[in-house]
Amino acid sequence: MAIAAFFASHWLLAVFFQSFFHHRYGAHRMFSMSRAWERFFYLGAYVVQGSSFLDPRGYGILHRLHHAFSDGARDPHSPENHTNVWSMMWATKREYDRYAHHGEQPEPRFMGGLPSWPAVDRIGQSWASRFVFMGLYTAFYVTFATAWWQYLLLPVHFIMGPVHGAIVNWCGHRYGYRNFALPDKSRNSLVVDMLCVGELYQNNHHKYPMSPDFAARWFEFDPTFAVMRVLAWLGIIEFGAHVQRMRLTERAIARAGEAGAPQACEAVQPEESAGLSDDAVPVTELG
Ligand SMILES: [Zn+2]
Ligand SMILES: [Zn+2]
Repeated sequence: MAIAAFFASHWLLAVFFQSFFHHRYGAHRMFSMSRAWERFFYLGAYVVQGSSFLDPRGYGILHRLHHAFSDGARDPHSPENHTNVWSMMWATKREYDRYAHHGEQPEPRFMGGLPSWPAVDRIGQSWASRFVFMGLYTAFYVTFATAWWQYLLLPVHFIMGPVHGAIVNWCGHRYGYRNFALPDKSRNSLVVDMLCVGELYQNNHHKYPMSPDFAARWFEFDPTFAVMRVLAWLGIIEFGAHVQRMRLTERAIARAGEAGAPQACEAVQPEESAGLSDDAVPVTELG
């Protein structure tokens, strides 16, 4: 029971911080918060992501590249460019490493407004820190595990961030349904996404990248947005004036689908269209 509770908490907290802080705040700047709250959530991300802490700056650059070149040759993690999920994960890691340690710089348009705290990034990405967290997870299992097979979950704790990234990037561009016809392969994998707290509404998100609510239809539910509404009500975050609305009526969804790029246009290379619909521009305008 303790192991199940620990696994579920670590899973949900880690993916929530990735979605809320790295993705919606860092990469997209859908909302603002005070410097003190930014530091609070930055440290929180380090603690809950632990051994697989992702530098928000490196994550943000990769994610902006993903939006600009979605499913094209320069997409850092498209299933279109790989035959299996392991090869995609390895390529994503290599691309992440290029930017995450303040090494290479991408084009300036992908750089603006990314949160950065070099001391936390340095410590969080050090092997010493990663091994300390792995030791803590192992100690918890040694103390509370009641069957040998429970140890099979331990490696997932070690690489929790990349596991979430792989699920979202592989499934979200391969399995599920589409509300909007787009030039990329993005899909909504789940109707109620409790597994990745809203991140699996990739098709909705690629259509309206600046909508803080990733759910578009009456039966879809985005848990991270529900938490964000509470944080906004408490005055901890403030939604920007440039955010988009995506909650649409069924009729509007049908209209948007007809007006968007038809499915037959999937052969158009995203690079040629820059992968950017009018709606997608704000993410790179920040630069
Ligand atoms: Zn995507
Ligand atoms: Zn995004």
